[in-house]
Amino acid sequence: MDSHYRVVVIGGGVVGASVLYHLAKLGWTDCLLVERSELTAGSSWHAAGGFHALNADPNVAALQAYTINLYRELEAETGRSCGLHLTGGLSIAGTPQRWEWLKAQWAVFQTVGIETVRLVTPDEIAELAPIVDLTGVYGGMFDEIEGHLDPSGTTHAYAAAARARGATVVQHNRVLALTRTTDGWRVTTEQGEITCEHVVNAAGLWAKQVGRMAGVDLPVTPMEHHYLVTDSLPEVAALDRELPMMMDLEGFTYTRQEGNGLLLGVYELDPRHWNLDGVPWDYGLELIDADVDRIAPQLAVGFERYPCLDGAGIRRWVNGAFTFTPDGNPLVGPVRGLPGFWSACGVMAGFSQGGGVGLALAQWMVNGEPESDIFGMDVARFGEFASARGYLEATTRQFYQRRFVMSYPNEQLPAGRPLAVSAIHDDLDAAGARWGVSWGLETPLFFAPGDPDFVETPTLRRSNSFDLVGREVRAVREGVGLLDTTAFSRYEVRGPGARDFLDRLLACAIPTPGRVKLAPMLSPSGRLMGDLTVTCWGDAGAGWGDAGAGGEEFWLMGSYYLREWHLRWFESQIESLGAQGVSVRDLSDDVAGVSLSGPRSRDLLAALTRDDVAALGRLRATTLDVGNVRARVARLSVSGELGYELNVPSSRLRSLYRALKETAEPLVAQGVPVVDLGYSALNSLRLEKSYGVWSKEFTWAYTPGMSGLDAFIAFDKPVAFTGRDAALRERETGPAQRLVTLAVDADAMPQPAEAAPFEPVWIGERRIGFVTSGGYGHSVGASLALAYLDVDASGQAPPPGTEVEVHLVGERTPARVIATSPHDPTGLRQRG
Ligand SMILES: Cc1cc2nc3c(=O)[nH]c(=O)nc-3n(C[C@H](O)[C@H](O)[C@H](O)COP(=O)(O)OP(=O)(O)OC[C@H]3O[C@@H](n4cnc5c(N)ncnc54)[C@H](O)[C@@H]3O)c2cc1C
Repeated sequence: MDSHYRVVVIGGGVVGASVLYHLAKLGWTDCLLVERSELTAGSSWHAAGGFHALNADPNVAALQAYTINLYRELEAETGRSCGLHLTGGLSIAGTPQRWEWLKAQWAVFQTVGIETVRLVTPDEIAELAPIVDLTGVYGGMFDEIEGHLDPSGTTHAYAAAARARGATVVQHNRVLALTRTTDGWRVTTEQGEITCEHVVNAAGLWAKQVGRMAGVDLPVTPMEHHYLVTDSLPEVAALDRELPMMMDLEGFTYTRQEGNGLLLGVYELDPRHWNLDGVPWDYGLELIDADVDRIAPQLAVGFERYPCLDGAGIRRWVNGAFTFTPDGNPLVGPVRGLPGFWSACGVMAGFSQGGGVGLALAQWMVNGEPESDIFGMDVARFGEFASARGYLEATTRQFYQRRFVMSYPNEQLPAGRPLAVSAIHDDLDAAGARWGVSWGLETPLFFAPGDPDFVETPTLRRSNSFDLVGREVRAVREGVGLLDTTAFSRYEVRGPGARDFLDRLLACAIPTPGRVKLAPMLSPSGRLMGDLTVTCWGDAGAGWGDAGAGGEEFWLMGSYYLREWHLRWFESQIESLGAQGVSVRDLSDDVAGVSLSGPRSRDLLAALTRDDVAALGRLRATTLDVGNVRARVARLSVSGELGYELNVPSSRLRSLYRALKETAEPLVAQGVPVVDLGYSALNSLRLEKSYGVWSKEFTWAYTPGMSGLDAFIAFDKPVAFTGRDAALRERETGPAQRLVTLAVDADAMPQPAEAAPFEPVWIGERRIGFVTSGGYGHSVGASLALAYLDVDASGQAPPPGTEVEVHLVGERTPARVIATSPHDPTGLRQRG
């Protein structure tokens, strides 16, 4: 072991070994993996070794498919066996809803390039796996590339391949402490001190403790997990080929062949956390005592599905621990506020995900960004709120219990809620709000005024909230909608050089005082990092906030759940652009607001202020006294109507909201609809304008040319903003796909459904793209979708009028490309 390395990876489980391998593969060979005990000595040694591509997040599913395809390559490279059994994998649907879901998943898999899956009938299941009792089985999905492997052999193969490429592995050497230095980290180990530029936390079961050594409390906890292995079974021994991996999705079990017996694993409905506050350092290659009574109900269901288990001798019980995060996905990437400290932990399914995690992290470290959109497993998708003990315990328990339970896009889960509420939560509740959650904050989805018993039914198809949402949408088109914008993030950028910094951070021209702009933010490779708005409030002399601070004050506004993600980016950009003296402050907990939109929103605002509202032109910003409250007001809206965003200190939001509601009464008396608006209606309104939103049309995977955000780039500004070269190149060559709007014949379906993200779009048998989001356009009276479609030789996407088909919940449904912005295409209404 040397005294200095470029990277020290802490942890020699499958994940740490994969990170080391991928770093070496990308050319970083000056890397050391330090293992407390021996390789695999955490969760990895006693894993059941199953691997599969199925994941509710299509981007994660794609990385799982990458992991699986890597094993053969690894074997060829090292000459070592991973003990691969490519038996194929069968997911069994025991309810009509699950069967429908599997059909929808099949379609999504086509989009992410997993073409090895096929849907199978109960008869085909009997053929593939004759030991399955088919009672209540509707069908299944079979994936050729699933199976199981030898966890130890695989971990050692990664390590051997990394070593062969020049990396170093040191075992029996625990990391004791981590200290930041001026240019990296000092790693104190049992065998001495090492300095390095980067540290990777791949400490698996001990990841929380290793995080704390560096100063971060990660939202991760170990939980117990059981499987059993039977003695030889005659029904299995009689087979002429190995059984596929089997997941009985309604039964909470997974099963595979082990010798001539079976291995049956159980996702418990009454799971147990294990050493939530930190795993003992001397925990060795040990098992936890099995608690068979606790898992008996799920075992009974498993024994019914596989009758040959009845009376089988149990050769081995395994109760081990592995790690969970609130949503079950890993924690990967650079940790905000700790330069050079990287996370590669919380990996619940290391043998399905380890390769993808290693690849993404190594790309990020070596190239500055991962190649695909991995937000679903980015450590920055959570804030510190997620690490609070009670929240972590409740959400991980919920995830574990629901591991195989179907989730519906309109389903709201209860764990850890309510955690944070807006200042007008109780008012909105009284007005009939039904709640969703964004980054711990309760957000109104829609309102059921006067109907306390209304409950939205979780479904893959059209929601029973359809009419309630439609009422809100139509009201915005005719009168006024009031939306609580507590769930917008707001950042203040100040200090000498703030304008210069923003000019290099953002791809748009930076607004002059009193103006707002849509601000695309790019990564160095020219992919999207943000769809923000930037407002220049001038010198802040108008009686708000730190008027004395002087200098120009800017606000950036964006999606609430991206707070940690954006702040990490802003801070790293301040560093890399050398923008000393610029401060970025997160105002999101301190400032909230109401957005007014609709043709009568000016009348409502004007009735509550003596200031001249009419003088506030589109994309202008000013300070107004509204009722008793001084508000920062910008004229813009995402509904496609005249609109104003009113921002006030959170403590004054209720005063503002109540004044607006009271002032609206005469309008209501005149028959003008003035309604509380939820985020479901906002989705319909923005689809009617073909406006994209983050995580759907705009993600790290897409570019300005694809998404149309290039229209907001100031290509001619004399500043080398981040991502400019790549954006210029894309302008030359053109993107491979472009965003279009589709009208979908959903109403012709026996049970209508709206299009959902990643559902494929076809012309005949040619897959020409995929949906990014869908919903019903209540004022245009059509089911709408936005989709990325392939361009032709002249660089154009299929023109309006092109007939296509879209998979809706697994059913091919006619659709056609329509012109952008089906509502008010000329934009007359928002010009007011
Ligand atoms: C019973 C059971 C069945 C499972 N079945 C499957 C399955 O079928 N398929 C699947 O994909 N996954 C399965 N898993 C989960 C899988 O085992 C984990 O996802 C995977 O092992 C996680 O690997 P890891 O490298 O993140 O963590 P670990 O395997 O826990 O590795 C972390 C390593 O870090 C080392 N370390 C920690 N702290 C330090 C320190 N301070 N200094 C030096 N070294 C340190 C530890 O000694 C350990 O070796 C199962 C797990 C269990 C328990």
